[in-house]
Amino acid sequence: MNSNVTAHLSKRLVYKKGDYIFKKGDPRDDAYIIVEGSVAIITTALSGAEEVGSMLSAGDIFGEMALMEQGERTAAARAVADTEVYAISREVIKERMAGMDPVISTLFALLVDRYRKTRIYIPESAELPDPERVVQHLKEMAGKDRGEGAPVPKESDDPLPEILEGLRPNGQDAIEELGMEQKISDGLKYGEFVPWLQPILDLASEEIVGFEALARWEKKDGTIVMPYEFIPAAERLNMVQHIDYSIFDHMCATIRRCMDESAFGNGPFISVNLSGVHFTDEAVVGVLRETLEEHKIPPKYIKFEITESALMTDSKNAQIILSKLKDLGVGIALDDFGTGYSSLNYLHKFPIDTIKIDRSFVSQITNEKRSMDIIKAIVAMADSFKIDVVAEGIEKKVEMQLLESVGCQMGQGYYFGRPAPQKEALKLLRDR
Ligand code: C2E
Ligand code: CA
Ligand code: CA
Repeated sequence: MNSNVTAHLSKRLVYKKGDYIFKKGDPRDDAYIIVEGSVAIITTALSGAEEVGSMLSAGDIFGEMALMEQGERTAAARAVADTEVYAISREVIKERMAGMDPVISTLFALLVDRYRKTRIYIPESAELPDPERVVQHLKEMAGKDRGEGAPVPKESDDPLPEILEGLRPNGQDAIEELGMEQKISDGLKYGEFVPWLQPILDLASEEIVGFEALARWEKKDGTIVMPYEFIPAAERLNMVQHIDYSIFDHMCATIRRCMDESAFGNGPFISVNLSGVHFTDEAVVGVLRETLEEHKIPPKYIKFEITESALMTDSKNAQIILSKLKDLGVGIALDDFGTGYSSLNYLHKFPIDTIKIDRSFVSQITNEKRSMDIIKAIVAMADSFKIDVVAEGIEKKVEMQLLESVGCQMGQGYYFGRPAPQKEALKLLRDR
């Protein structure tokens, strides 16, 4: 496992009854969530006397100012029973926010910044502010015409809290995201997401045996948008399913046309990408089955490409969905193999027919022994499981030769052909 992964995990900590979790004056590091037990927040009154500010129990959060501001604790937290907590650092929050929906993160940043500004105006602020002081402060704020709905100052004297770095609490990210949602929705409505095809070859005979369908967004003005510019956004917006369905529907229509023109012969197989988003919802199986039936496509022509991370997120559910897909009679390919968890576990747990070795290994085989060794190991392992192997991203003849020499059956890459519009790509079939 990558050491970065563990460095950023939340810590689960155990305290005995009476232990201090932190004391007044301690540096602020983490926020805490109580898993089990009970915690008293102890404030110090102006007279110097200690008072219990509040009693917290499982599910409660405390010390959260640490996420917004460094500095010192202004109150103590003490376990009043044997207690377990999760400690969450600024790094953990930052990492979790990196993949957050920009609309949510914008609002979050705004709320945090406003809350923080409210807090810093309170002199001697306690970890939990004295309600009277808050009311007093809000009155002052109102006097300054800074109530709810007041615009957030564009540039504040104090820098943004560290956890909000990179976020723009001014709505730009949200505007972009909402605009993208509208554009993708329009693109779907006008059928602008279309498959381009890249050939997959048998390395020994150099014959085309299949094609991978790769989505392109062909806009009305003629511009062609690449997947990296819209797939991540479509995944965040929960719209990628519709793009995938649209690509699959196009491909089924194409296969039907080729079959009717007897141009398909025994067929190349068609590989279609399915986003990991599908693997939490069984509905995908019904939609794909109906599309196959509507175009009367023999399932043997179809392979669905999925990534390991899709199977990781909700492995039980993914297993069910994958076997139902498999029952349709289609093939299943594990995409980008070697970049994720690449555990042997998958290969017997999931009904996989094909492994696609990621381009990052293929591009290194001529100058890095390690990549070659990994490929050899993958091919040997796949062989013992009776799984086919496709090497991705072959750009040079020598790469193709090396791959063939270690028993890799199939390959795909610019050396054989770039993704091209369907008409152009299928011409390769007719001309062969
Ligand atoms: P992928 O599934 O791993 O697809 C292979 C990518 O590698 C494609 O990029 C392809 O054009 C590129 N490629 C192929 N041969 C070579 C080569 O020799 N050298 C180099 N440098 N690149 C090569 P593309 O078309 O930009 O697609 C990028 C990714 O977008 C895909 O990676 C896939 O994850 C995603 N994607 C594409 N179409 C769809 C789709 O219909 N649905 C979903 N969910 N994702 C898609
Ligand atoms: Ca793929
Ligand atoms: Ca791939």
